[in-house]
Amino acid sequence: MTSLVDFHCHLDLFPDPEAIISQVEGARIRALTMTTTPRAWPHNRELTKDKTYIRPALGYHPELIKGDSSELQLWEKYLPEAKYIGEVGLDGRPEARRFLAEQKEVFSHILHSCAREGKRILSIHSTFAVTEALNLIEEHLPPARGKTILHWFTGTSKEAIRAIDLGCYFSINSAMLSSTKNCAMLAELPTNRIITETDSPFILLNGQTQSPLNIEVTVKKLSNLIHREPEATAQIVHENLIALLS
Ligand code: MN
Repeated sequence: MTSLVDFHCHLDLFPDPEAIISQVEGARIRALTMTTTPRAWPHNRELTKDKTYIRPALGYHPELIKGDSSELQLWEKYLPEAKYIGEVGLDGRPEARRFLAEQKEVFSHILHSCAREGKRILSIHSTFAVTEALNLIEEHLPPARGKTILHWFTGTSKEAIRAIDLGCYFSINSAMLSSTKNCAMLAELPTNRIITETDSPFILLNGQTQSPLNIEVTVKKLSNLIHREPEATAQIVHENLIALLS
């Protein structure tokens, strides 16, 4: 049976993390749960210990880098025990842009460390800073040293082509698929580079908080975009996950 995949969610930010984790595990949905601050890593590692379908990622969210990047040492300390890295990257929205220099320093360091360690899989935030994020990926993390997934990618078609050349995958959520502006660009992505995500609990759909448990909504929307049946779309995503992990 094809497993459904939620490659970017924040299960530790749900009101009852243990409950949602046990439900997702029970539903056999493959979920990658982000860490936003390195301090939260030990908790996330414990929450997902011995799980078959859920993996934790070690992150340092760019929105939390506000002139103080002191947690980078902690991130570095935990790196040897983390195969997945996220949420990391750059945020160029007006309220975060004034810390973009610090964000770039942290993200460069993270990419460089991942290249040194090798075999890491990174879920990358690039809101309003796509070109800058791609520049740093190109500079610090050669495709042979790690794999990159652009989470909630909102770049142009030109930036998408560049990301594809750099070996990036794209994790696509329901909000992205609701934006007609995005859909033309998303429809051009090669189907062997796409994967599904919810970014839950941050996205509301029809007023409801999403979770990995309703990832099939995203699969269905994606299936409309790529003109495939939902089952075939789920199969494509599952095959891409296997390629990503190989
Ligand atoms: Mn996120």
